[in-house]
Amino acid sequence: MPPRLGLKIDVDTLEGFRQGIPALLDILAARRIKASFFVSLGPDNSGRAIFRVFTQQGFLEKMWRTRAPALYGLRTMFYGTLLPAPLIGAGAGEILAAVAAAGHEVGLHGYDHVHWHDHLLGLSREEISRELAQAQGLYQPFLGHAARAFAAPGWQCSAASRTVLAAGGFLYGSDTRGYAPYFPRFGKQINSVLEIPTTLPTLDELLGFEGCRPEDFAALVLGRLQKAESPQVLTVHTEVEGGPLRQEFAHLLDRCRDQGVEFFRLEDWARELLQEPEKIPAASIRQGRLPGRAGRVSCQGSLEAES
Ligand SMILES: [Zn+2]
Repeated sequence: MPPRLGLKIDVDTLEGFRQGIPALLDILAARRIKASFFVSLGPDNSGRAIFRVFTQQGFLEKMWRTRAPALYGLRTMFYGTLLPAPLIGAGAGEILAAVAAAGHEVGLHGYDHVHWHDHLLGLSREEISRELAQAQGLYQPFLGHAARAFAAPGWQCSAASRTVLAAGGFLYGSDTRGYAPYFPRFGKQINSVLEIPTTLPTLDELLGFEGCRPEDFAALVLGRLQKAESPQVLTVHTEVEGGPLRQEFAHLLDRCRDQGVEFFRLEDWARELLQEPEKIPAASIRQGRLPGRAGRVSCQGSLEAES
């Protein structure tokens, strides 16, 4: 079996939406690769992320190491604080239609990305439902149907957020970091929505970490793909791989192609897996730390111990 890779492309900001998406569409079209985009369509409150300096271990270090102002742009870093937060979904129709027309999957990446990322674990089911309804309200008029896939901002998920996904009829979620698809278990309850976790580290986590350069990151991804016995999922950000590091990303894709890697959309893999749901194991979710990432993210627990 050739190595298989699903590209999960997260859109967190207005800049990433307007500049990053078109850049990535060109890169993917030139290589005939189909991917899964996940868009935040609510207010771009990126500037408020600065308050994580008070709550997240490693936040400032990561900002300096990755040269965040250069990656994200100064304007984006003040949205929601010194500058008003623009609504990403306003006037988003043309770009969203272009993504869908190119054959890519379009899922949701929350409504207010920063709000979900920083407060999800304290939000009630009703508050989460409201976020989802607002996101669907912006998505549906542009694409003619409700979104079927959801990727949690900042890999933050909870029993309440998964219950909301189940009630919303989502086909699958991609909310966590892990190693293989599963149904999330919360206590005795097993959530009915398939979870397809991100299995590989991200470029923005490892850039500069212990001297990691983009070419070192590419070597790491290729090494993991060659060794893996099951499909892998890589999360990329329109602000990073569709921004200042777009050449490095295109180069990674070329190297993957040279090594026979096949690309797939997460939606297609979800449909394939759900033909035999009894073969999909359950696993718990815990909040854990990852190399190069500030704060904690939702991680897949051990399958062996759980199933
Ligand atoms: Zn995100």
